[in-house]
Amino acid sequence: MSRFLDEKYASLEAYVPGEQPQDRKYIKLNTNESPYPPSPEVIASVNDSDIADLRLYSDPECRILRQKLADRYDVGYDNIYLSNGSDDILNFAFMAYCSDGKKVAFADITYGFYKVFADLYHSDANIIPLEDDFSINVDNYCGINSTVVIANPNAPTGLTLPVSAIEKILKSNPNNVVVVDEAYVDFGAESCLPLLNKYDNLLIVRTYSKSRALAGARLGFAIASKEIIDDLNRIKFSTNPYNVNRLTLKVGAAAIDSDDYFMNNCQRIAKTREKTTNELVALGFDVIPSKANFIFAKAPEMSGQDLYSKLKEKGILIRHFNKDRISDYIRITIGSETEMEAFITAIKEIMVGN
Ligand SMILES: *Cc1c(COP(=O)(O)O)cnc(C)c1O
Repeated sequence: MSRFLDEKYASLEAYVPGEQPQDRKYIKLNTNESPYPPSPEVIASVNDSDIADLRLYSDPECRILRQKLADRYDVGYDNIYLSNGSDDILNFAFMAYCSDGKKVAFADITYGFYKVFADLYHSDANIIPLEDDFSINVDNYCGINSTVVIANPNAPTGLTLPVSAIEKILKSNPNNVVVVDEAYVDFGAESCLPLLNKYDNLLIVRTYSKSRALAGARLGFAIASKEIIDDLNRIKFSTNPYNVNRLTLKVGAAAIDSDDYFMNNCQRIAKTREKTTNELVALGFDVIPSKANFIFAKAPEMSGQDLYSKLKEKGILIRHFNKDRISDYIRITIGSETEMEAFITAIKEIMVGN
């Protein structure tokens, strides 16, 4: 760090993204990317003239894509906000609603970025432990007069809360924003979108990175009351109005035009998830029931770190979090059927000492 850095950033612990190795080809089951390419329509949506048009700024209002998403989710144009990935939206939400000592509550085991943003903005963070089985005790979030951030399904556990539980939290914290991060909702969980009409404090965050196979395009969107969308736009237009580039706007629209393709792949991934879960259970693993495109599992007689290293030697990358309560677990992204067969084969070899 330089001697010029403001001391309020000196102690920041930055988010550590999963490995994106360039040295060799791995079966990559470590960052919850899609094993399937985007739809043919997405691939055909960008041509030479779009590259030539990069001399022009992108539409800061993202009008075409906003309207498409509004139609797709049956909400108003004013209820949609677009940003450079959903991390960008979470960043803005922390900036807007929980900076400088304002309260925010989230789970001890959840998406690691929430803690990073809370530190960055000097929030008064209430980190609430999950139950022993990693479930959320909803009562811990009721009537706490605090911004609440919940990933549903949760990461890295894959567990979900029913919409009725989210509604209890919204209803009992009417003067605070409740952020529901639905990054993985398309893999079989229930969205809290139907609550949008009833609660002006609901902020739903979605991403194209997982279910729409566009992690590298950086596109996230929020669905919320017009007032909350206005807040996010206020921050976006005060920092980087062109934060969604022209190519990403085009592929984002083409993805919605071919959404059946993506939703179909989500179902395929969910099927592979169930198959992989059953195979791991048969091998004696403890597997948390997941509604996401990953599973969180504990081997019968091996540490998470060991399993991670042994799989890496065999060319398979998974994620291990060296963190209290979960260091015995590994998080495995659901890949294609063939990739998961290779994964199960590797696990069997490791278990017999090969
Ligand atoms: C992957 C992920 C994100 C970030 O998605 P981007 O749109 O790629 O920034 C946000 N929240 C959760 C829970 C995630 O797992």
